[in-house]
Amino acid sequence: MSNMVKTDLVKQEQEVIRCTDVTCPVCGMSCDDVEVELTPTSVTTKNACLMGDAKFQELRSPHRFVYPTVNGERVTWEEALNAAADILVKAKRPFFFIGSETSNEAMAAGIEIAEYLGGLVDGNATICHGPTVMAFQDVGMAGCTLGECRNRSDLAIYWGCNPADSHPRHMSRHSMYMRGFFVEQGYQGRKMIVVDPRRSPTAAQADLHVQVKPGRDFELLNAVMVALRGMELHPDTEKVTGVSVDTIKKMAEMIKECKFGVIWVGLGIASTHGKHHNASMAMRLTQLANDYTKFVILANRGHCNVAGFNQVLSWTCGFPFAVDYSRGVPRYQPGEYSCVDALRRGEVDAMLVMCADLGAHLPKKAVERMMDIPVISIEIAPGPQAFVSDVILPGVLDGMECEGTFYRMDNVPIYARSFCKPPFDFTTSNEHTLKQLLKIIKEKKPK
Ligand code: SF4
Repeated sequence: MSNMVKTDLVKQEQEVIRCTDVTCPVCGMSCDDVEVELTPTSVTTKNACLMGDAKFQELRSPHRFVYPTVNGERVTWEEALNAAADILVKAKRPFFFIGSETSNEAMAAGIEIAEYLGGLVDGNATICHGPTVMAFQDVGMAGCTLGECRNRSDLAIYWGCNPADSHPRHMSRHSMYMRGFFVEQGYQGRKMIVVDPRRSPTAAQADLHVQVKPGRDFELLNAVMVALRGMELHPDTEKVTGVSVDTIKKMAEMIKECKFGVIWVGLGIASTHGKHHNASMAMRLTQLANDYTKFVILANRGHCNVAGFNQVLSWTCGFPFAVDYSRGVPRYQPGEYSCVDALRRGEVDAMLVMCADLGAHLPKKAVERMMDIPVISIEIAPGPQAFVSDVILPGVLDGMECEGTFYRMDNVPIYARSFCKPPFDFTTSNEHTLKQLLKIIKEKKPK
């Protein structure tokens, strides 16, 4: 039987499947020009970077989870779903972690379970751009699409990020090295400023590398705003920020001289001291720059559909992350209902983790709590998360084995088509898995 999914862009000759315009489900760029050739034993990609290619290789990985387990023992799908439902129904303070390596549709299904059971719900934003999202709420964001950056931007400011490593096709597709409708000279017509304490691979390509002192982004952002206004900088500016007054004035000049500038903020801003205050200040700088030219700000979202989690939760309950449904209405409180904080306090007594290797990413204390409580994971392959999981439900690769939508880093929803089917038949997608689970939960705990 063919395992191909039929669309005009998917072709099968004997056992070889070829698909064009595939959306890469790895980083927040969601590149939608990938080509894949799939044979029974190999995967070959075109246009994907190394990170993207590695993800597509999982299609033929011998390490995939292809059957469910409970306490490490192989069980039937029904037994695994029942075990998962029992854990969640009995819990007093269940936590639902909606990872970013899945579609908006699956996220919505996961959030529905959290709401039904009155649990806490959070996603990857909590350990990455959560502070940037809070700053959007505080200050408001002047943003645009990646297409506008590509076609209009003649100045890219990478602040606290290193896309050469984290988003390998970022500069070649959307900010620096391609021709744009209004930037016909391509690279020759664009300039790049990198603000980073390290001489990163991105900084090495910059027209101006601003080596801010670690943790002094807030002060430097303020100083650039002072320079933009043409006011005198405080004599201690260099001592505090580590950046010379001349360099700060040069930054301000480059901002004023460009026709369309973009600040790409990374975790160097969101994860250092000051957190959302840093990102708020970057947004205020963007607003001020618009007094002189056109300027926008975008977050370099890292994981595949991490922007999608903020979008889906926002259109479901009005809040972007760290939500508690225990009182029957959604309450929002980063620092209290967020994943790391709730786990570290020891109040969570069961957890459903979908499509996120949390065991590899959370602080030790939070992982220790996960080891003390029953954990259900929807997982593709063994990793640290599998070691802390009591129930493992095999995951489906969204955008390959099932269709779905992802929100790109500019918050534009992108359709991801499927071109093959999962290596099992008990579920067709992570959304399907969660809907089956909710059905059993409703039978065990009717309202
Ligand atoms: S840049 Fe990101 S989305 Fe594009 S191919 Fe690489 S990993 Fe995939």
